[in-house]
Amino acid sequence: MSGEITFDLLTSDRCVPDAVRAAMLESPGFGQVFTDHMITLRWSQDRGWHDGKLQPYGPLVLDPATAVLHYSQEIFEGLKAYRQEAGPIVTFRPEANAARFAKSAARMAMPQLPQDAFVRAIEILVTQDKDWVPHSTSQSLYLRPFMIATTPALGVGKPASSYLFAVIASPSGAVFTGTGVRAVSVWLAQGYTRAAPGGTGAVKTGGNYAASFAAQQQAIDQGCDQVVWLDAAEHRWVEEMGGMNLFFVYGSGSDARIMTPPLTGSLLPGITRGSILRLAPDLGIPAGEEPISVEQWRDRCAAGEITEVFACGTAAVITPVGTVKGTGGGWQMGDGQPGQVTMRLREELLGIQFGRLPDPHGWVHKII
Ligand SMILES: *Cc1c(COP(=O)(O)O)cnc(C)c1O
Repeated sequence: MSGEITFDLLTSDRCVPDAVRAAMLESPGFGQVFTDHMITLRWSQDRGWHDGKLQPYGPLVLDPATAVLHYSQEIFEGLKAYRQEAGPIVTFRPEANAARFAKSAARMAMPQLPQDAFVRAIEILVTQDKDWVPHSTSQSLYLRPFMIATTPALGVGKPASSYLFAVIASPSGAVFTGTGVRAVSVWLAQGYTRAAPGGTGAVKTGGNYAASFAAQQQAIDQGCDQVVWLDAAEHRWVEEMGGMNLFFVYGSGSDARIMTPPLTGSLLPGITRGSILRLAPDLGIPAGEEPISVEQWRDRCAAGEITEVFACGTAAVITPVGTVKGTGGGWQMGDGQPGQVTMRLREELLGIQFGRLPDPHGWVHKII
């Protein structure tokens, strides 16, 4: 079946000129500028997957009744293409994103795109727009595959009968700006939850984010960078930070170990999270999963047991957490600065992605 999915190449005759692109790549921000092309592929009940193409980047024309605009039947992924120092352009574990995209589709009652077609779509777009992959190792090409329900009908008796899959690409720098790697401050969400058992927290659907912005605004109003989500039932167990998973570092030096909350069904199973769980033991850092409550987080920091905390995700890689604030006050991780274990893991992961270090798990996927 999946062998039948093909992408026609309709290249743009209005590509951004080299000099303009170079200027755009100077400081692209995150997710603000886009490459010359995009991938689109349609699905309908009668025809299955069809009309796959690489085409010039541009607006989508949608009927105002289009289902996604009303009921948010949407899923997405996020991964990056890296220009390695020795020349090749690679991605990191794209088959893991493809598998998660299929799981997201199943949860949202959408058709599952065969995983090889997902990876091929990315390869075609990155190959076509390779000049947009930054040369700087503080930047990469962020890839955003997504799928929306396109049926123009307001009835909610059943899922939509037509969908659009697309991939767009955005040369991007750091998510959290500042000089070098900055420790972020986090706010313990009050009065809001991100996800509940049986809900959609474990899949990447836009609605999770739509529901998170009020809490994120609350965090900003409190002078914090990000919101930390707690469990829906007791509002006590730590789940995630914004759109990233969290790790707690216990001890230091050769005694350091790391722990992350287990995937209870309301956490998003991050590919970065999974990679760190496997990578840390390679570096002699034991890693495991264990629930942690807000009180335990605070008390273990006070006792000096927890020495560092970091968040992880594709976009911001590994980001140190420096301070926590909540209605009951706040506390600091160590001296509030990026910690050694955090930075060691960050260097290791980036080293593999940019080809400076060996790739013992075969995670790097060469595109060209
Ligand atoms: C995407 C995402 C993550 C991180 O997943 P990665 O695969 O590591 O990029 C974590 N939490 C949420 C809510 C997310 O949407």
